[in-house]
Amino acid sequence: MEHVTHEELMRWLDEELPLERAAALAEHMERCTECRRERVVFETLGGELRMAVDAPSPGQAWPGVQKRISRPIGWGLFVVGLAVWVVYGVVSYALSPIALWEKLASGGIAIGLAMLLGSVLREHYLAWRKDPYRHVQR
Ligand SMILES: [Zn+2]
Repeated sequence: MEHVTHEELMRWLDEELPLERAAALAEHMERCTECRRERVVFETLGGELRMAVDAPSPGQAWPGVQKRISRPIGWGLFVVGLAVWVVYGVVSYALSPIALWEKLASGGIAIGLAMLLGSVLREHYLAWRKDPYRHVQR
């Protein structure tokens, strides 16, 4: 058998050769150092080519950048707006002509709920930070 041609080598590596031909090539590879060397070169080239194809092109980078920029802005606006409303609500509630015991009771309910929500969110955040698979995309 002659040396393996480059085209056949590529088709063999892509598993596109008929079984008998592939077996003959494999047998030749066992004996021929030169063709084994060619195979290593082609496998390396093929791997690098696949990595280059799989690497995100500049056009595909935009969704990631947008996510990194727009999410913090969205959260920032949400938190600031919520804080303004909470302060406004607390001040107008404190200044309203409602009996003091009513203010203290509903203040206790509001503060208790906020503490409960905060502790639950904190636990979830800490569990999320310890999760070794949090960077794995589904
Ligand atoms: Zn050969």
